Amino acid sequence: MPELKALSFDEIKGQDRALGILLKAQGKARLPHAYLFLGPEGVGKETTALSFFWRLLCEGKTACGKCVPCAKFLRGNHPDVEIISPASKSLKIEQIRALEAKLYFRPLEAERRLILFPDAEAMTREAANALLKSLEEPPPYNLFVLVAKSTEGLLPTIVSRCQIVRFRPLPQKILEQVLVERFGLSEEEAKGLSCLAEGSLGRALRLAERGFLEELSRFVKAISTGKPSQIVAVAETLPKLKEDLPLFWEMVLVWLRQGLLSHLELDEFPEMLPEKPPRDFVVPAMERVQQAFSAIQMNLNQEIFLLELLTFLAELWRKALHAEVSPVGARAA
Ligand SMILES: [Zn+2]
Repeated sequence: MPELKALSFDEIKGQDRALGILLKAQGKARLPHAYLFLGPEGVGKETTALSFFWRLLCEGKTACGKCVPCAKFLRGNHPDVEIISPASKSLKIEQIRALEAKLYFRPLEAERRLILFPDAEAMTREAANALLKSLEEPPPYNLFVLVAKSTEGLLPTIVSRCQIVRFRPLPQKILEQVLVERFGLSEEEAKGLSCLAEGSLGRALRLAERGFLEELSRFVKAISTGKPSQIVAVAETLPKLKEDLPLFWEMVLVWLRQGLLSHLELDEFPEMLPEKPPRDFVVPAMERVQQAFSAIQMNLNQEIFLLELLTFLAELWRKALHAEVSPVGARAA
């Protein structure tokens, strides 16, 4: 277990309901023996699990950061904390067996052994079945926390053994605030990213790290001006994003969706995003961008695919803009 940058409950933003459930449980004598933390990526599920562990281990049960168990926990070497992450791509039965061997011994120092599965969906079927056995008849001094995006990838029998705690996407304002206060982003950048991150801090940070906001600006500029030199430049740079390319397309879709919402007068177009797409551009562009995801999977030559896509979008933009300036002509056509 590496050194932890754990947060206290006070520092976790936007998940008051989940924290409330845990605090209430902590106040009672008996905790459930297994929790399932459910919710989208990057909204604080794993952080909350670790903070909860921290509270449970602390002598005063407050995550004081000063007592011996707190110090051990924060250094990442508390003997009663187990974090079972996927060994490679999946979480294997051997890992569950290794854990099982410990479950029937009392914890060494704490009241409970605290076991976190940060990515429960990565369990193989065999691993899940093995874990199910431990969850069915667990010795009382073990507490499991499973973290997952949804219940779809989990055995229903496992889900039914856990108390579910739901985590919500973070409200945009809170996301903005966290990006500025904790991660030192400028207010402008935080505003733009929080529009695109769909309530996920993890995603916002990834977007920031990769400079995606600028990447999106270049993309929009190329199609809105239709300049061949810019189109070629974007088609050459985007494939370099490699495994982050799907995330880029998701971001383009969010930008388009914001455009759609604003044309339908359901929401204002966020001023921190690149230029608002013209009305008739949005829906056909969304359909076309969806194809970008399959292009990645089919291993098409990305540069050629992008050249075609960008040229198509630039043409679509030009027509849509024309329809906006001369709505009568557009209707007649
Ligand atoms: Zn403490």
